[in-house]
Order: sequence, then structure tokens, then C-alpha cells
Amino acid sequence: MNHNLFAALAKRMQARGNADFMTTREGHDYTYAQALEVSAQLAGALVALGVAPGDRVAVQVDKSPEAILLYLACLRMGGVYLPLNTGYTNEEIRYFLGDAEPALFVCRPENIDDARRVANDSGCPKVASLGTRADGTLMEEAASAMPFESIEARDANDLAAILYTSGTTGRSKGAMLTHRNLGSNAAALVEAWRFSESDRLIHALPIFHTHGLFVACNVVMMAGASMLFLPRFDVDTIIEELPRGTTMMGVPTFYTRLLQDKRLTPELTANMRLFTSGSAPLTAETHQAFERRTGHAILERYGMTETNMNTSNPYDGERIAGTVGMPLPGVEIRVTDRETHRPLPQGEIGMLEVRGPNVFIGYWRMPEKTREELLEDSFFVTGDLASVDERGYVHIVGRDKDLVISGGYNVYPKEVEQIIDELDGVVESAVIGVPHPDFGEGVTAVVVSRPEAQLDEASVLDALTGRLAKYKQPKRVFFVDNLPRNTMGKVQKNQLRQQYEDTYR
Ligand code: ATP
Ligand code: MG
Repeated sequence: MNHNLFAALAKRMQARGNADFMTTREGHDYTYAQALEVSAQLAGALVALGVAPGDRVAVQVDKSPEAILLYLACLRMGGVYLPLNTGYTNEEIRYFLGDAEPALFVCRPENIDDARRVANDSGCPKVASLGTRADGTLMEEAASAMPFESIEARDANDLAAILYTSGTTGRSKGAMLTHRNLGSNAAALVEAWRFSESDRLIHALPIFHTHGLFVACNVVMMAGASMLFLPRFDVDTIIEELPRGTTMMGVPTFYTRLLQDKRLTPELTANMRLFTSGSAPLTAETHQAFERRTGHAILERYGMTETNMNTSNPYDGERIAGTVGMPLPGVEIRVTDRETHRPLPQGEIGMLEVRGPNVFIGYWRMPEKTREELLEDSFFVTGDLASVDERGYVHIVGRDKDLVISGGYNVYPKEVEQIIDELDGVVESAVIGVPHPDFGEGVTAVVVSRPEAQLDEASVLDALTGRLAKYKQPKRVFFVDNLPRNTMGKVQKNQLRQQYEDTYR
């Protein structure tokens, strides 16, 4: 049997024939049959450009239907797809090409000169371009190359993709993902979220990240559903399209921004059956506000680049605000002591570890780091702190690296943030630990307040007295206009820690 993920997808795609696969607002559409055909042409182009099975294909292009077809082409001919954040500079690309040693680098047409230079410096032999209007040298190559009609045989444990992590806590790491990793997770999610041929997903996420690429696109293809492919999240466009969609996958900022718009109503979302959220914590407040406004309980799930999706709130059962639900079928979890990895009693906060067919096989060229995080019994140390309640719902408390240890006591930022966020006039907050001469780390709050609110440091500190144990109370409170976030809406606490590192010195 061929374990190539593309074999499973192609079977579904063939059965869907002339049904819509990807549509855009500009009418740049693909049926499933057309997508299969172009994937064969693009796979032919990859072979013609010298890509062999097992070779990496690094891709930094703007979002377009063809970029997804390139991903499919790569799977099809046995290559390893390696998408890169569109925000990376030449300097960063140089690092990634040097690290991944791809056989081909596909760039935006307008970047081709820089790309050639960077590829040359880092020993990458070939460069091609792909634009958003089915243009670029790769499409030209595809038009003349012999189509690759077959499907390269792959083992379940062969690499399908290398995906770099978001770099929230340090330098991005290349997660090696196999055909089994991606296939098993897509199948689990189709089932868990009841995706079917009649679904139309509103796709507004970037496609260089696990959420927009694997969760969204693999699920759609495996279900034979269709998707409206949008270049980015834009409130007006989403409002216009919601009546024609059935599902949307979002990051929390999608929902907070929609909530600011008066046009968000139950009528507007009447055709939608499912909104999901992930990649960063959705606050209970946003979850509840969205339900009040639309009648939809957002389904929050939890995953990461290294593991695909691990847990999900139930489709039919209760979707509990502030939790990420239960392990997906086939995924095992445990909560352990941060240092010894010994399992903790139910209900206690500790390191979340996961095991299953979804878990990657290691970090590309980082054997040490792989050994530290992929334990001998195959559990992966996620780096996230969590607890599991009596009903089995997982509560993510925050990242281990964001834990503040002040005077020897653990302070979980989320607990403090939740209380600050409840104060009148507060939009959101981030609590961090920065060096402190007496306490090791000083609890420090960074707050975004409403412009009309009369909040100052003293009033926030006053309001927290009596609501939080003394050691959890921030020693200083700073006000900012916005919290620093990356493209996935993740708060960059690293950046905040740097900015405030001299506070207590
Ligand atoms: P890096 O590993 O490079 O520091 P990163 O961890 O942000 O970056 P990703 O793999 O994109 O890279 O993100 C996974 C992380 O996102 C998880 O470990 C978790 O901290 C966070 N996350 C994802 N979904 C949720 C969620 N529903 N609730 C809370 N946190 C989430
Ligand atoms: Mg991570």
C-alpha cells in the first residue's frame, strides 16, 4: 500500500470531480478535477527542476490557490514541502535555506533577484517563482514539463513536510512531519468536526502555518468540501461572505475583531454551522460574547506545529469557554512534573505531554533538542502548562517559558491576566516576569486600556489588592496601545520581557 498522503487525498478528490474545491472572490477558481490536473503539471515541473523524492522544496510565496496545488504537487512526487513565513527577510531566508538545504526555492516573482542571490549563498541549486495570478516561472515550467500523473510510493514514516515553528519562544525549529502525522490528524478532525462534501470553509488564515495549511486544507480535501480562499482576514470581506459559508477556522483575533462590528448578528451567521479557534488562547470573555451575539459557541482546539492538533472541544457536547476540550481519538495526554516527567494527580497543573500518530518524528538537524522533548516512551513535551478537570477537559494555563517564579512561588500569568482583564476599562493584558534583585523575577503587568478609561498604575494595583495573593500581585503596571503580536495573533512575551528587563534594576 502506498502511504503517500496524496494517495488518500487524490481518491477523495477524484470522486468529487467537477465539484468546487477552491474559489476566490476574483473568480480564480479550481474544481477538484482541475486541481488534480494542475498538481500533476506542477509535480512534473518539480521533477524537471531536479527535485527528487525526499528533497525539500522551500516555498515563500503569497497566498494563492496555486500555492496549495504546489503543496499537493510536492506530496505527489515524494518531495518534502517546506513553507516559509511571508514576513521573513532575506537574512532570515538565508538561515532557513542554509538549515534545510532544499533542492529548490520557490519565491514571489518580485523577489526573484534577491532569492537567486540568497539561494546561491546558501548552496540551494534552483530557484523558481510563483505569483498570485497563476504567474511566475514555476507555472511556465509546469506548462511545458511532462505531467507527473502517478503518485510516488511513500512509507507512513517518510517525511511529507518540514514546518518551522512560529518562533514565539526563540528561534523557529523545523518540525519533521510524516505522511502518517498529517493523514491521521486530518482524518481525526474531519470526524470530530463533522466535515462533509456540503461544507464551505471560509479560509482567511496564512498557509505557511499548521493551522491554515494542514488543519484547514487537509481537512477540506479529505472531506471533499470546498473553501473560499481569501488572501487575508478582513472584517468587511468576512461579513460579506459569512452568509455563504458553513464553517470558519480562526485565531482569537478574528473573533475579537468581528465582535467590534455591529453587523455581526445571528441572522448573518445563520448559514454557519461551526466556528473553530486555535493557535493562541481564546479568552472565556470572547467565547461568551460571541455566543451572546451570534448563538454560536466557538469550538476551541489546541495544537502545535510539532503535533498537529491534540485536543478539541466536542462538536455535540458542551464547548466550555476557556478550555481546549479533550484529546482527539488516538491522542494520549498526561500532565507531569516539569522536572521529573512523573505524572501528577488529576487536577494539578504541570507540563502537558502528548503521544500519538500525530506527533512529529523530531526537529530537523537538532538531535539534542529532539532528545530533550521527545521522551523514550514517545511522549512529546509540549512546553505548555495545563491541568485536566474532572470531566476530562484540558485547561491550558500558559507556556512553561512564560511561568513567573517570584520569591520561589509559581505565578501563572493567565490567572493574573484574567483578573486584570475583568477590571473596568481594561481591553487586555499580558503578565510577564522580569529580573528582580530580591525575588528573582518580578511580576509585571502590561495593560491595554480603553481610551476613555481613567486607569493608572495605582488604580490597577488597588483593584487587585485582596483579589490575588500578595506574591501574585504585579509589582509594576505599564500601559501600552497594543500588545505585540505575530501573524498568528500570538502575544510576543519575549519582546515584552526584553522591553521591561531593566524595570527592577
Ligand atoms: P515556538 O515553538 O517557535 O516558540 P510557537 O510555539 O508559538 O513557537 P506554534 O507551533 O505555531 O509555535 O504554536 C503552538 C503553541 O501555540 C502551543 O504550544 C500553545 O502554546 C499555543 N496554542 C495553540 N492553540 C492554543 C489554544 N487553543 N490555547 C492556548 N494556546 C494555544
Ligand atoms: Mg512551540
